[in-house]
Amino acid sequence: MIVDGEKEGRALDETFDYVIVGSGAAGATAARVLSESGARIAVVEEGPAITTADFGDRLWPALRRLYRQMGTQVAYGRAIIPVLQGSCLGGSTVVNSAIVRRLPADVWQSWQVEHGLGEALPLEELHEYWDQIERELSTRPTPTDLWGHNNRLLAVAAQHVDAVGGPTRRNEWGCRGSARCSLGCPHGAKQSMLVSYLPYAAARGAVLLTSARVDKVILKGNRAVAVTGHFHRRQRRQAPFTLRARRGVLVAASAIQTPGLLARSGVRSRHLGRHFQGQPGVPLIGIFDEKVTLWSGATQGYEIDQQLTQGRFKIEAIALPPEALFPRLPGIGRSWLATIASSGYMTTWAVLLRAHAHGTVREGRFGARIRFDLTPQDMTNLRKGLRFTAELLFAAGAREILTGIYGLPERLTNPDEARLLEIGPNNPACYSPAMTHLFGTARMSIRASNGVVGPNFAVHGTSNLFVIDSSLFPTNLGINPQHTIMAIAMHAAKTIVGLTGGLGTQR
Ligand SMILES: Cc1cc2nc3c(=O)[nH]c(=O)nc-3n(C[C@H](O)[C@H](O)[C@H](O)COP(=O)(O)OP(=O)(O)OC[C@H]3O[C@@H](n4cnc5c(N)ncnc54)[C@H](O)[C@@H]3O)c2cc1C
Ligand code: SF4
Repeated sequence: MIVDGEKEGRALDETFDYVIVGSGAAGATAARVLSESGARIAVVEEGPAITTADFGDRLWPALRRLYRQMGTQVAYGRAIIPVLQGSCLGGSTVVNSAIVRRLPADVWQSWQVEHGLGEALPLEELHEYWDQIERELSTRPTPTDLWGHNNRLLAVAAQHVDAVGGPTRRNEWGCRGSARCSLGCPHGAKQSMLVSYLPYAAARGAVLLTSARVDKVILKGNRAVAVTGHFHRRQRRQAPFTLRARRGVLVAASAIQTPGLLARSGVRSRHLGRHFQGQPGVPLIGIFDEKVTLWSGATQGYEIDQQLTQGRFKIEAIALPPEALFPRLPGIGRSWLATIASSGYMTTWAVLLRAHAHGTVREGRFGARIRFDLTPQDMTNLRKGLRFTAELLFAAGAREILTGIYGLPERLTNPDEARLLEIGPNNPACYSPAMTHLFGTARMSIRASNGVVGPNFAVHGTSNLFVIDSSLFPTNLGINPQHTIMAIAMHAAKTIVGLTGGLGTQR
């Protein structure tokens, strides 16, 4: 059942066993598990209710309806970095590219050795959850007939330079290669939470509240007893709501929104909102003699990941929507139009950096205030990644490369020039990064002095206020995170059922 806050005129006061804040990768996965326990659950989502029928091929309506702050959320540092997040039923999974990666073993080991979290996040169990999720969301490597030329050329380049790469594995069922995952899948093929775990939970009685922003969690002593908030219509306040929680409140509002919600609810920890980590991505545009038709094929169907550990980057083919690509093209007036005219011959491949940088996320008047600055080592790694990407582009036969980097030539035409990218500017503001993979702002720790959330997922000092999203990750992953977020949310939900008393109450 969906309670659509855009239409809700009356105040609501209801009681559930569990209240889950956020309907993205973490929240929906927890809803999937808890709904099977017989418990009465509410999933509260700030963004609107949407359906597959709402998805089109234009960026602007997608930004307005599906993205937080219409895609204008940014991190401040030397560079202003867009921090893109979905805000709608299904969260960021509605706009993501559905790439599936398991947590790399070396990252898990660092969680075990340096943070003592081996028992709290047992790797063997996580593998069982990954197996289950992959079965349920029909994960498979992008088949060659869906590659399209953007992905295919990256595969050709990998072969030429003997790089380690392969088709991305994705959650999809019947993908038609329309290259517009970031606008919502118009065919319902991408197995986002909107078309998978949320309907599953709703069919088992979960109540989904949309356009419903949770303002705070109400704590009585060390117990979370309710959440309060308000319905809204396009950010205009409607009626208030109180959702009482007999057993627990699970916060899955994302690494950017979770720390603010905890702070508004009275959680105090010097680690709250600190240790923010992310994976900035920087694209290079190649122009080929042959037709590429960027907007056909899987949005992100091929990746090269041989530098995950040493270089801390991976390279991904990514089809940017035209409205996002064109502003990146150099020139003004006629010369800009001439470049746009060759857009059918362009590829876009991006370096995804596992940054060392730690930033902060604080509550601001108009949303989260994010600070994040790449370190000198990050800049070195980024430049190496860009050089490698340029070498791949030339190896695949690119006629020119549009760098989009202030301080470097607009266009590179000779393979020898790829080295320029490695000695490019140090200032991140000269590049145009964006971030979508976000971690660490309420990290898990054994002791309260080291983090915000305990090994049982409860906020330190509380018995049943749980955090289950990537805020709790102690480090950056270096890979696409939704699969890890989902497996950990699955593990968290099972742990929480055990902690809070097994089967739910009768409806
Ligand atoms: C464009 C894009 C492409 C991506 N591609 C990939 C990919 O291919 N593979 C991959 O692994 N990852 C990808 N990601 C990242 C991945 O989607 C996220 O890491 C993951 O969805 C995060 O899960 P989450 O549950 O923490 O947050 P989200 O999925 O962002 O969900 C959080 C939800 O909580 C809601 N919320 C926040 N505050 C409140 C509040 N106070 N009250 C009520 N609701 C609230 C938000 O509106 C949002 O819907 C991509 C992300 C983006 C934006
Ligand atoms: S590429 Fe595939 S999964 Fe993505 S929007 Fe198009 S049909 Fe859907």
